[in-house]
Amino acid sequence: MAEESGDPQQPTFDGPPLSLEEELAAAKAEPEAGPSIETVNESLKDGLNRCPKCGSTDVKLRGSTGNLVCLFCRNEWHEARVEEEFGLGEGIDTLEGTVIASGAEEILADAADVLTFKCESCGAEVVVDTAHALNARCHWCRHTLNVNQQIPNGAVPDAVLPFKLTKDQAVEAIRGFASKRRLFAHRQFKKEFVPENVLGVYLPYLVIDARAESQYWGRGEVQTRRWTEKQGDNTVTYYAADVYQVSRQVNFTVDDLTVEGASERADFSGAKTNNIINTILPFDTKNAVKWNANYLVGFTSEKRDRNVEGLQPVLEDQLLSIGRSQVSGSLGKFDRGVRWEQEKVDVGGSRWVSMYLPVWLYSYQQESNGILHYIAVNARTGETMGSIPVSQPKLLLAAFTVGTFLEGIAGAFLVATA
Ligand SMILES: [Zn+2]
Ligand SMILES: [Zn+2]
Repeated sequence: MAEESGDPQQPTFDGPPLSLEEELAAAKAEPEAGPSIETVNESLKDGLNRCPKCGSTDVKLRGSTGNLVCLFCRNEWHEARVEEEFGLGEGIDTLEGTVIASGAEEILADAADVLTFKCESCGAEVVVDTAHALNARCHWCRHTLNVNQQIPNGAVPDAVLPFKLTKDQAVEAIRGFASKRRLFAHRQFKKEFVPENVLGVYLPYLVIDARAESQYWGRGEVQTRRWTEKQGDNTVTYYAADVYQVSRQVNFTVDDLTVEGASERADFSGAKTNNIINTILPFDTKNAVKWNANYLVGFTSEKRDRNVEGLQPVLEDQLLSIGRSQVSGSLGKFDRGVRWEQEKVDVGGSRWVSMYLPVWLYSYQQESNGILHYIAVNARTGETMGSIPVSQPKLLLAAFTVGTFLEGIAGAFLVATA
């Protein structure tokens, strides 16, 4: 292969040198703990989430409207969107440091899961295990008590995106997903498939706004010539290219980047298929509303167990990948491609809000190997993804058929060019 360097510079792949002033400025710009955004819903302080019209605590989400409905007087209402309430859509291009909303603050190891409330109505004590539920009924007066304060155990987020898809719609989506794959599905699975067992779960996420600058260094090739030579029976193709050192820099902002707040859901290990949750993104996080535990009545929820600090590398990774796609449009002249060898991101400012996002989840444990399969439905958009147990003999048979077919084509091709 002929290679010709189009740029005689020495490689400087650890980035351009900084002047003393630049070093100082960079040190100054190190993110510090920024101001916090207070998101506690003050109107719900006493643990009783009352209907604003009649005062009843028999309140739940009406899936078809995304509103809260009072089961006593049928009044419907909703909490304010956090986007406007806390100004979360604004000022991304001027963010400084790390701004953390109160519901996304660090989880304390000794924060208890089990909370005891004093019922305001009758004085009885009501216990709520926040690991599984965020409301409980008083056994004596039947009032519903809700967890509204943000205990530092990750159970109460800043905002909640209410379920919109009804259970019936979710069952339909799951049935459709499985029936498209029934040809290869395991016989046992087909027999035991009961989509009506789907569960509505609020999963914890962190939603991030950020301002960043990313830089990339690498080599790009522009082809100058291409020719073939005979070597015995073979024909060998050569090319000549100019090799350039390429660097790019881009400033950008991201609005509502969504990352998992629970480490179990972020797990990509083989025995779990949890990561499918990622494939039903995005959610319309702009429509998330202020916390009110009544949105969770009839659903389960999972606690957040990841902190902002531990998620910084995840944010940086995602920003680097967004930056790469931003600069890719300027690389057209390198017709043989660009290989990045080094990259770097500076996060000028970020803002973190914790959120519950609604998912309909159907799970199925495969007996033969213990693998837990999920089919997940985005309860806002209906996007459905998952994995189902596959019948191995059927899959092998299919592979064999396809393989034979491809070999047939290759044979014909060889004959034609011989
Ligand atoms: Zn009412
Ligand atoms: Zn009571």
